[in-house]
Amino acid sequence: MSGRVGDEGLVVRKIREGTVIDHIPVGRALSVLRILGVSLHGRHRIAVLINVESRKIGRKDIVKIEGLEPRLEDLDKIALVAPTATVNIVKDYRVIAKRKVEPPREVVGILRCVNPTCITRQEREPVTPRFVRVSVKPLMYRCVYCGSILTEKDIVEQLAGQALD
Ligand SMILES: [Zn+2]
Repeated sequence: MSGRVGDEGLVVRKIREGTVIDHIPVGRALSVLRILGVSLHGRHRIAVLINVESRKIGRKDIVKIEGLEPRLEDLDKIALVAPTATVNIVKDYRVIAKRKVEPPREVVGILRCVNPTCITRQEREPVTPRFVRVSVKPLMYRCVYCGSILTEKDIVEQLAGQALD
């Protein structure tokens, strides 16, 4: 016994069935939840750890969601705000699958074009935003309609600025 309660001591007990998303960059845990469409008033029990120690990336956030297994497309989207994330699928208290995330080739919806005159931002009958990946490092997407470029900073700002329902 060192007598010191490390960050791991904070960690909420294991979940029985669901998903643990680890190695999220600090401050982006809530963005990850938002991307997963998890509502604070929904049926899932959620544990969020913010700014805990990590051997791999210094500090990190962790999200645990009971009763939810993310769809493949959700994993892609998580990469938009948490490219370092590892996603663990848990069944009967054991990790049965570990997945790395990768930014999707195409993003439909979710993001907003940075060009205020883009057809996707018209007040009347706007078109659903659609972006294609131009580069992974640094992360960059291009609007299919007007060609504007979204940087990683734009993406994180957009997804972090939105509150959970
Ligand atoms: Zn556009």
